[in-house]
Amino acid sequence: MEKSEISSVKKQFDADVKKLAGDSLSIEAISLLRNSYTGKDSQLAKLFKELGTLDSKERGPAGKELNVLKQHIEESCQLLEEQYIQHKAMVDDEKQDIDLTAPFATTKESLERLQSQGASNPVSEEVEKMLSIFRTMGFHIFEARELDTEYFIFDSLNFPPNHPARENWDAFKTAEGLVPTPHTSNMQVRVMRYFKKPPVRAVIYGRCFRNEAVDVVHGHTFHQIEGLYVDKGVSVADMIGTIKAYLEAFFEQEIVWRIQPSFFPFVEPGIEFMVRCIFCKGVGCGSCKHSGWLEVAGAGMIHPNVLREAGIDPDEYTGFAWGLGLDRTILQKNGIKDIRSLFASDIRFLRHDV
Ligand SMILES: [Zn+2]
Repeated sequence: MEKSEISSVKKQFDADVKKLAGDSLSIEAISLLRNSYTGKDSQLAKLFKELGTLDSKERGPAGKELNVLKQHIEESCQLLEEQYIQHKAMVDDEKQDIDLTAPFATTKESLERLQSQGASNPVSEEVEKMLSIFRTMGFHIFEARELDTEYFIFDSLNFPPNHPARENWDAFKTAEGLVPTPHTSNMQVRVMRYFKKPPVRAVIYGRCFRNEAVDVVHGHTFHQIEGLYVDKGVSVADMIGTIKAYLEAFFEQEIVWRIQPSFFPFVEPGIEFMVRCIFCKGVGCGSCKHSGWLEVAGAGMIHPNVLREAGIDPDEYTGFAWGLGLDRTILQKNGIKDIRSLFASDIRFLRHDV
């Protein structure tokens, strides 16, 4: 037996240990390694057998060296096992760690979900769709202010100083006296002034806030899309035609409509635009509160006082305005039961998993 034989076995073993480190490490792999170096048919066993053929002078030192190698193999395999167990415990621990700020359970499955991108809120998706319909109809798009002065929210819109809406709507005020806007109509006079002179074709979208007790159908925050059209000779027929064309594009079907009188201080006359329920075709269902009709928009011819406030002569020009509440339509269209889901930022809801 050459001394070099023993050292080449050691060299080969050390190289194999290095190869095992990392991801390929497992209890099975370690046990295979140990067997192949110390088992019955291993090279080490062969060398131990050869010991008997050596003369007594050489046998002692060679036997000692073989034993040192055997011990080295045993110790290395044991060390590998310890490393593996430690690594596994750490990985398991990480999987079970609870991140209280995460909007999901940190199981392996949901961690994988983190690696993919988020999803857009149904409100954003529907708003984009609505706006694109109005864009094709030739309207300019504006985003509404979320804090505004009482002048633009009420006074410029022909609300008398003692109008009850002021009390219900202006529940909060900033230190500067700004009010969270309860409707997107605060933009009407601003937008008309922006155009300076008719024709004015504008659609405004934004978030609105009201002092509401929150439940599955009421939210303190909601979305509105508001439209304005001012020009010479604009009539009630133009208003009805515009709203109808939009609704048919949005619901992707012909609609049956009716109007009923309504009152808003900033229009005269004011109407409520109703659509025969697109879900039950007028038979009566949960969406239409069993009336067969959906209230989809408040609208009306812009009050002469509002036109005057915007610097437009009401004797020369007329116009109409309408406001659409988005949230309830989005709930109905997507079969969502709880209005609060729209604001909860729950990734499972946004990805349509729940
Ligand atoms: Zn219905």
